[in-house]
Parts: sequence; structure tokens; C-alpha cells
Amino acid sequence: MKKQVIALSVAGALTFSGASFALPSAQAVGEGPGYGGTETINTSILTTYSEMAQFLEEQDAKQKHLEVEKIGESVKGRDLFVAKYIQNPENPTILFLTQQHGNEQLTTEGALEFIKHMGTGKMKGVLDGVNVLIVPMLNPDGAMGDVDFSLDDYIASGDRNLTRYNALEVDLNRDHVDKIQPETKALHENVMQKYDIDYMIDLHHQGAQSERDGKLVSGSILYPTTPNADPAVVEKSKQLGSVVFNAIDSKGWGHLGKYNGGSAETISRNGIAVEYGISTLLFEMRGMSDHFYESYVLGQKSNGYLIKQTVTTLDAAVRAISDGSINDADISFWDTLATQQTRPYESE
Ligand SMILES: [Zn+2]
Repeated sequence: MKKQVIALSVAGALTFSGASFALPSAQAVGEGPGYGGTETINTSILTTYSEMAQFLEEQDAKQKHLEVEKIGESVKGRDLFVAKYIQNPENPTILFLTQQHGNEQLTTEGALEFIKHMGTGKMKGVLDGVNVLIVPMLNPDGAMGDVDFSLDDYIASGDRNLTRYNALEVDLNRDHVDKIQPETKALHENVMQKYDIDYMIDLHHQGAQSERDGKLVSGSILYPTTPNADPAVVEKSKQLGSVVFNAIDSKGWGHLGKYNGGSAETISRNGIAVEYGISTLLFEMRGMSDHFYESYVLGQKSNGYLIKQTVTTLDAAVRAISDGSINDADISFWDTLATQQTRPYESE
């Protein structure tokens, strides 16, 4: 009896999807807080630092090829981690970094989802050709709102506010030359200098009102733009960007622009490319989890597709490096990809 009910509902679902299941992209993208009176932002639904630490420990015990290692501590004493998949040190290696800015959390949610995904049969054989390092939530104090300054004017509701800065109100992504903060120091001393890394994707979130060709972007990407980066390193960064662009922009919910970033080497995209010869890509996803500017924050209806965007990005990059197809990636799209612009925002 039960079996028959299931069979019927599956048939029903198929009929339904056959009709027209795809949502219009404007709806899938969502809007800012209070938009249409329907969007909310509640930080209680986001993974806490402790939940993340516990998740990593559980996955480490469960996954044969995964090793989770402590790389240092935050200002407030939270352990920082790298999740490592290294089968053959001779293989090319990619590093994924999330949440240098504590209020840019969905990239971390996606990275954790990807770690879970790595433990399934779907990734069988992929690790034969690539090593993967993941540093999730480099700024846990900012992510938990455990900081030495006031967050009273931050917008999100829920059990905590999230901020860009670390506990000492320093922007970690301006500390990659001096490496003064314990979080950046840990990343450089125990990850960048310890492993032979070829590629890095630094995952962030930007404001919610960036557009390309008149349509709000789901994210924007950029390679190293300092004149001091080796052109060969930049070319490989552009290839990494090509892999990501092709994986995302072809999706109904995906629409990527070229990020309008500067050339300072205090920023990881530039500094890490110059110091270590690593091919870096910045990925700025749409909208932040919290901020004091309304136009930077994005309602939580968009969480699902932004997490999926992260998982798709990591999956595509890992596969393209593993099978070597990244070396044939066409970088000519960069010549025509429009730089994103900011749509004027009207506060409600
Ligand atoms: Zn950021």
C-alpha cells in the first residue's frame, strides 16, 4: 500500500516538473531585507562556529581521505582549521578560503556542504588527480559577533550580528602583506607556506545591488590585478575564472560580472599571487548576511541558490584541475565580460 502511494507521488512530481517548474530568475534571486514586506534576515539559521567545528570533527572521523588540522587561533581563542584532501603531494593543489569577512557566511555554508559532498560516491576518482584544501570561516569572531566594538547599528535579527572585521576591528583581507592578526598569520604560516598550492579561490559576498548588463548579478569574479603578478600566474587565474564562469553563468540562477577590484597587495587575490606564485580568483557572491548598510544585506530567500553557487564552484574547479581540462580553458570571455555596476538603491 505504502509503495503504491510513493509511486503515485513520484509520477505526480514528474508531471509537474514537465509542465513548468523553473522559477523566473528575478524570483530566484530574491531581494534585500523588507523587500515587498516578505524578506527577512535571521542569523539564527546560520551555522555557528561551534556547529562548524563539530561538523568538521565528525566528517574527519567519517571520511577516509579527509584530515582536519588546527592551524591557529582567532583573537578570542577560537581554533582555526584546514580541511585537507591530499592523496599525492605531486598532484596540483587548490585552496578554498571562506569568510575572511565574518558577515559573508553563505560561502562557508557552501564549503561545508562541499566537504559532505566529498565524502560521497559522487567524487569517486576525482582525488586521484588533485589535492584540495579548505579553510572555512577564517574570521570566526566576526562571524559570531564576538568583537570588541559595537554592532548596535547592524540590521539582521536573530541570536547574533555578524561583522566584516575581526575582534580588533581589523579587515583581515587588508593584512596579507604585514600578517599581524592571528588569523592571517595562521593562514600564511600553516597553510600558504606549508603546502605547494597552485590555485586559490577566495570566497566573499558583496553588496546586493551589483548588476551586469542591466541584470542583478549572482556574483562577480576577478583575477590578480597587481602589475607585480607573474603573467603566467595571471593567465592560470583567468583559466580558473573560465571554469567557474562556465559552470555558474549557464545556470538559470547564475549571472556573473567582472568585479571592480583594486591592485593593492594587502588583498589576498593580489598579495598571495605575488608572494607565492599562486593563481588566485576572487569570487564575490551577492549580498551579505548582516551589515549596517541596508543595501549590502540580502534576504534569506536567496540562501539556497547562493549555497548552491558555492558548491557548484568548488565542484567545477576541483574536477577541471583533476582531469586537466583547466589547462585548455578559454580565457577570451574575460575580454568581453562587463565590469559590474552598482544599481541605485532605494531604502524602504
Ligand atoms: Zn569579503
